[in-house]
Amino acid sequence: MYIDSHCHINFPELAARMPDILAQMEHNKVTHALCVSVDLPDFPQVLALAHQYPHIYASVGVHPDYEDTPEPSVEQLVQLADDPKIIAIGETGLDYYRLEGDLEWQRERFRTHIKASRITRKPLIIHTRSASEDTIRIMREEGAGTDAGGVAGVMHCFTESLAVARAAIEMGFYISFSGIVTFKSARELQAVALELPLERMLIETDSPYLAPVPYRGKTNEPGFVAHVAEFLAKLKGVPVEQVAEQTTANFRTLFNVPA
Ligand SMILES: [Zn+2]
Ligand SMILES: [Zn+2]
Repeated sequence: MYIDSHCHINFPELAARMPDILAQMEHNKVTHALCVSVDLPDFPQVLALAHQYPHIYASVGVHPDYEDTPEPSVEQLVQLADDPKIIAIGETGLDYYRLEGDLEWQRERFRTHIKASRITRKPLIIHTRSASEDTIRIMREEGAGTDAGGVAGVMHCFTESLAVARAAIEMGFYISFSGIVTFKSARELQAVALELPLERMLIETDSPYLAPVPYRGKTNEPGFVAHVAEFLAKLKGVPVEQVAEQTTANFRTLFNVPA
């Protein structure tokens, strides 16, 4: 039994084939998925999916890559998060890889999400790419993480170094691995996954992107998270059931979702 901790099934290529997606989840023993919000205009659709399907959870937030989109306020995020199916704030964070120039607006948007997380006590879903130093610095400044009286969260689709993973874990965060870890070219990331304790790990698809081996290059979907778990089990030399059980328990602890 697996949980996909991060997917975008509201995106058109997946939303158009929901019955298929759900059947594939059931076939691969993926019991739940967290549909992650990327901007405010799409949020009603994300929430509708979570309300329609008991095994779909949702988050509210505005992605750091979305430049020309309504800017959320703390109050707005707090208000939109006030629903039992909204279990997290995000995805938020910093991305210096995709965007260039003065990205102060990205850092401000990130701070807004951390404040909303502290108020709602709902965990953060953090996206960080080529920006780990600023990400960790702003997390500390805004009091993200359990050690600062804030709420923990997850560093999603993790591709950073072991040092960054450890800094996040020290703040009470979890590290989530996507299909990227299954890629032949991902030696360094595999070394990070090998070092980290399963007790701090989540698994995800980030679908429709980044399908794991053996579906690399195809449209990804939540059912495929089983392949991420199988890869991690082999890498760590443990039974896949152990990866399934531990990552599911971690998801439930982090997002306060009882079995
Ligand atoms: Zn992301
Ligand atoms: Zn995402």
